[in-house]
Amino acid sequence: MLVFARRVSRGLSSISVHSTFASSRGRCRMGTVAHSNSHVAAKKLKDAGLLLSRALIGDKWCDAIDGRTLNVTNPATGELLTSVPFMGRKETELAITAAHEAFPAWSQKTNTERSKLLRKWFDLLIQNKEELGRLMTLEQGKPLKEALGEIVYAAGFVELYAEEAKRIYGDIIPATTQDKRIFVLRQPVGVVGAITPWNFPLAMITRKVAPALAAGCTIIVKPSEFTPLSAMAAAKLAVEAGIPAGVLNIVTGDAPQIGAALLESTRVRKITFTGSTQIGKKLMEGSAATVKKVSLELGGNAPCIIFDDANIDLAVKGALAAKYRNSGQTCVCVNRIFVQDGIYAEFAKAFALAVSQLQVGNGLDEGVTQGPLINPAAVVKVESHVEDAVAKGAKVLTGGKKHSLGRTFYEPTVLADATVDMRIFSEEVFGPVAPLIRFKDDKEAVAMANDTEFGLASYIFTENITRGWRIAEALEYGMVGLNEGLISTEVAPFGGMKQSGLGREGSKYGLDEYLEMKYLCLGNMSPP
Ligand code: NAP
Repeated sequence: MLVFARRVSRGLSSISVHSTFASSRGRCRMGTVAHSNSHVAAKKLKDAGLLLSRALIGDKWCDAIDGRTLNVTNPATGELLTSVPFMGRKETELAITAAHEAFPAWSQKTNTERSKLLRKWFDLLIQNKEELGRLMTLEQGKPLKEALGEIVYAAGFVELYAEEAKRIYGDIIPATTQDKRIFVLRQPVGVVGAITPWNFPLAMITRKVAPALAAGCTIIVKPSEFTPLSAMAAAKLAVEAGIPAGVLNIVTGDAPQIGAALLESTRVRKITFTGSTQIGKKLMEGSAATVKKVSLELGGNAPCIIFDDANIDLAVKGALAAKYRNSGQTCVCVNRIFVQDGIYAEFAKAFALAVSQLQVGNGLDEGVTQGPLINPAAVVKVESHVEDAVAKGAKVLTGGKKHSLGRTFYEPTVLADATVDMRIFSEEVFGPVAPLIRFKDDKEAVAMANDTEFGLASYIFTENITRGWRIAEALEYGMVGLNEGLISTEVAPFGGMKQSGLGREGSKYGLDEYLEMKYLCLGNMSPP
């Protein structure tokens, strides 16, 4: 039986601080409740019908069978937003049955019919953009402007795959003998299990659900315990759009139990996961018993290489965007900034100044560009990375400690004189800390950038296009931003090399992950 031990590192701390278990008898521990406008925002969302407390299995919005719930709180304030069902194996099996039963009718619809339904879902996501954005800021903490940007990005996947659904082409291959014809058909994989993280509560879901549904698959989604509300609201809009019962199911609760039920089922033909490399490896291992198709979008350790010939203003702007988006909590966030000797001092000064001007606070407040980290445990992790770096000789240019707002807030930080022996060089910091590492020449920069088991995003700043092209080719990364800090878009293939994952999401290539190729040989054709 494939039952994973619950993660102690984050699981336990999250139980007591951010997302807390509450039994049906009402036992519940919460974080400190601070003043906030989130109460008002949550009430408005409830009135709009988008703050939901039940999961979706088939055509029913359900509680957990044993009535247990999981509290969802605002990371900026500790306030309780609502609670969602703490489901496990039994509920997941019900969702698998619902998805399995819905599969024949859904996969047999014409691609145009599926396309139209996805398009309606896209329209509803856009129509509800403001509410969905506020909901995301409430449960995840990112500034409202970023949350609204994520809603558009997330809806973009639905629009893209509504269009791509019409272009799922097969192939005809010239045969080697006159009496044969060779055809290639593309057919849906079947029932999909999707597990997603908290840092992009909606985009990581639509990036999987939209291509799966376009291909004709049905799906069970398990969102993160920290951010299940965006998933539930989007599912409600999918139902409103006319997506049939059982095609999209949302199960919230016990990650190891839900994961085990998805992995063990022979009816689930594919696992798609976005999250840490540690959990991704477990899911890959667990998929072996039933030989499921697997897609993994995992952790990163992105380098940003700034050459002497870079446009410094552009490099500061690009590195700032690539490092501090979502307070440093994205898989494509820059983790290490390599700066060439000749411009090191000038870049460090300009970058530290720009970082010191970032506005930290509650994401619902006007002008805030840096929200909280997801929970206090994340702050402890960031603190330990900074302490380690400073103990090994790094100098704090700006920030360097917990923010005066307390709890989940950390100051946007720049560390100079970072070196390869610091933990921050090899571990994903997932917080607002940028270490600057000096280098001499191209060879040294590429060697240090590639010196990691990860290979997701990378960034280069140079005005020399030949150098930029050569370095881009030499980097062992799935994505390269050349003079650009923001690279995510639904129309490009997103994904990593090495231990950053398997497969690609977004673009026309993202559809392949949900399609099987079937070779059909027509033989013994009599001569004309
Ligand atoms: P995580 O701890 O791996 O969790 C991701 C998801 O897996 C959550 O839904 C989690 O559930 C679930 N999970 C945890 N243990 C499980 C188990 N034993 N079986 C099945 N599911 C399990 O990652 P995270 O902290 O949420 O997200 C941050 C990580 O995601 C970072 O490493 C980041 O780089 C990576 N990420 C990668 C991409 C990409 O596209 N490559 C995009 C975004 C994030 P609970 O939350 O309910 O515990």
